Amino acid sequence: MTFDIAVIGAGLAGLTSAAQLQQAGYDVVVVEKSRGVGGRVATRRIPGYRADLGARYLEETGRLLPLLLEILRDRQVVRLWTDTRHRWDSELILETPLEPPSPRYIAPDGMNAIGKFLGRGMRVWFSRRAVRLAPQADDTWHLSLETVAEGSNAAIELTAKAVIVATPAPQAVEILGNTAQIPEEFRQNLTAVEYDPCITAIAKYPSDRQLPDWVSVDFPPDTDLLWVGLDSSKRPDAQQPVFVVHSSADFARSHLDTANLESAGRQLLDRAASYLLPWLSEPKFLQVHRWRYAFTSKSWYRDCLATATPLPLVCCGDWCGTQQIETALRSGLAAASIINSQLQQEVLNPIRQVWRSL
Ligand SMILES: Cc1cc2nc3c(=O)[nH]c(=O)nc-3n(C[C@H](O)[C@H](O)[C@H](O)COP(=O)(O)OP(=O)(O)OC[C@H]3O[C@@H](n4cnc5c(N)ncnc54)[C@H](O)[C@@H]3O)c2cc1C
Repeated sequence: MTFDIAVIGAGLAGLTSAAQLQQAGYDVVVVEKSRGVGGRVATRRIPGYRADLGARYLEETGRLLPLLLEILRDRQVVRLWTDTRHRWDSELILETPLEPPSPRYIAPDGMNAIGKFLGRGMRVWFSRRAVRLAPQADDTWHLSLETVAEGSNAAIELTAKAVIVATPAPQAVEILGNTAQIPEEFRQNLTAVEYDPCITAIAKYPSDRQLPDWVSVDFPPDTDLLWVGLDSSKRPDAQQPVFVVHSSADFARSHLDTANLESAGRQLLDRAASYLLPWLSEPKFLQVHRWRYAFTSKSWYRDCLATATPLPLVCCGDWCGTQQIETALRSGLAAASIINSQLQQEVLNPIRQVWRSL
């Protein structure tokens, strides 16, 4: 099948660029290796519950997030969660105002509702991992795909005039590993990006537990923890307390390739119990996830990484800056703008207008 543009990755960067280009009239396909949209803005189903596995909340900071939040609030996709911050400080949980004041918003149905909103009306091929990109003699890209899970009838190859790779940079390196004629400097810039990993535990507890007076606590790195959140405080219909615990980067690095991920999760709960609430070490249910690429630790200094050699190609994502989701949105927009300038130079609508029309 042939498209104008193939976007690899249905995270917020990929969805933003795809929406922008599709509205401008391009024929766009998004290829995603998992079964849903949103990428690291992820929600995991556990028995009788949905927990936020990745991005925890949205804040009204930056240029694009306030625009997106206004629309998501109007559509009732998100609501205010908290405007205070708690952090662990040696012996104490300190309540500190968010400076500058920046309320935190969550999606009551799970943070992946945000990706679902941004992906409305988009052609997404799920369970397809992009494995190889090659230029062809007729000036189109040939993209080879691998089937990750059965149940999707999408094709396993496609051609496109332009490609946007909207994945963490190390995953873009894998896809472009054997692509001929890409400038060496482009490859080096991509390879220089680094990520910190994170291990995340989702833990459910009996309903008779006494809940704390905070909804989340931030931790300094020497505690093995990064963040502990009372996920069930995000859900109006939660029957039992559910906590999400994110590890520090150092803890994740030392357990990343363990065969016993559950044991790493239990260690995280033990740490959380020793600081916060003793009963956190005894969950009724535990699920543990490893994020190999969680947070950018060494970023690229421009909004995206682009080349027209041998054919239009742009890599984008949260690694093009330090503001996580805000950077992903900005980077996706920048990718769309560059690809448009290399193709038909259509009029691109302001992103607020694009999002409003979803
Ligand atoms: C635990 C955790 C907590 C976080 N908390 C926050 C927070 O509170 N606030 C905040 O702003 N940010 C937070 N972040 C970071 C935020 O989630 C990311 O910055 C943002 O979602 C990145 O979006 P992206 O589109 O650049 O990449 P991603 O979301 O990673 O999207 C990339 C997509 O590409 C797909 N993909 C990868 N390789 C391939 C391939 N070969 N073929 C096809 N598809 C592929 C992936 O499956 C994924 O869907 C958190 C991240 C983690 C892990």
